[in-house]
Amino acid sequence: MTTITLTLDEIYQLAFDCLQQNGADEENAAAVAQVMTCAERDGSHSHGLFRLPAYVASLRSGKVRGDARPLLREITPSLLKLHGGNGYAPLAHQTAIPALAAAAQKNGVAVLAITHVHHMAALWHEVEMLAEQGLAAFACTTYMPSVAPAGARSKFFGTNPIAFAWPRPDATPLVFDMATAAKAMGEVQIAARAQEPLPAGVGLDKNGAETTDAAAIVDGGVLLPFGGYKGSAISLMVELLTAGLLHENFSYEAKEKDNGDGGPPQGGEFILALSPAIISENDWQTHCQQFFDRLSALPGVRLPGSRRHQNRKTVEIRQIDAGQVEKIRALMTSEQAD
Ligand code: NDP
Repeated sequence: MTTITLTLDEIYQLAFDCLQQNGADEENAAAVAQVMTCAERDGSHSHGLFRLPAYVASLRSGKVRGDARPLLREITPSLLKLHGGNGYAPLAHQTAIPALAAAAQKNGVAVLAITHVHHMAALWHEVEMLAEQGLAAFACTTYMPSVAPAGARSKFFGTNPIAFAWPRPDATPLVFDMATAAKAMGEVQIAARAQEPLPAGVGLDKNGAETTDAAAIVDGGVLLPFGGYKGSAISLMVELLTAGLLHENFSYEAKEKDNGDGGPPQGGEFILALSPAIISENDWQTHCQQFFDRLSALPGVRLPGSRRHQNRKTVEIRQIDAGQVEKIRALMTSEQAD
């Protein structure tokens, strides 16, 4: 793969300009470009510039509003609800996460129910924002069907990611963020592009046979849940928390209503914030640090999130796939579709 060297500022500007030229206003373009730049900074490549063409496709088709203004309401002191105005999720997070953090810090627990957004980013961003405020956080969202529930061979669940963050004083938060599919579709698409084989158990081809060929999964195949029936149960929970609880689209409903432009469908996101300071009523920081010290001392263990946080510390320059950059530049010169 041929790469181009870009600074983080250049990555941000490329994403911002491309989004703005394709119909996003300044606030929306800035919010999405910021999240995309953080993904490249941390080495979350499947949710960095790689996703820009799909973001643009939905701006051009009019499915996603580039001028969305999220509307935040307090339903109870510990339940906030945000209508995303059919925009991309990053502006919704920017609007609501500070209020969610304040509610959890006051009440011990708070929920943010986000509806009418289009989410195609990594989830670690929102839970990490909360952990940086001294809160534990959980987030999940649905997508369009791409995963076969345990026992089935056809798509029903989305890749339905879940993310969890735990605050650590004087250290980066502990964060895990993962699709409940054996692999996120973005990772499979990148493996298909690089013609790299996948481990067994990631997906089935269009005939329902197990395959390690990423292209066979992308072209009419189906992903499998991680961990068999256990991952399948977690994916089911995600559908209920984000669609049942929030009265938003289940993954299959999102697909039925989607215009097929290649961008993310409309859906909801469930975010829970918890205050260890209020709930533990104790010195949770020392107690948990002892736990992390013991865990990290085990040979072979690394904490989830540490790869990303390590990438974050390195120089502010990234190698980006040259073909990807060319594709993005072409989106800035090509005519907008109707
Ligand atoms: P990975 O399988 O790459 O990683 C999952 C988690 O496991 C990460 O937190 C990672 O930490 C951690 N991890 C990986 N290897 C180890 C290890 N050896 N020891 C301990 N921890 C480890 O992620 P996925 O492919 O499942 O998901 C990728 C992204 O896709 C996620 O950010 C997710 O939010 C996003 N996604 C978004 C969707 C949407 O609709 N918006 C849909 C589906 C997925 P680290 O990062 O440090 O490696």
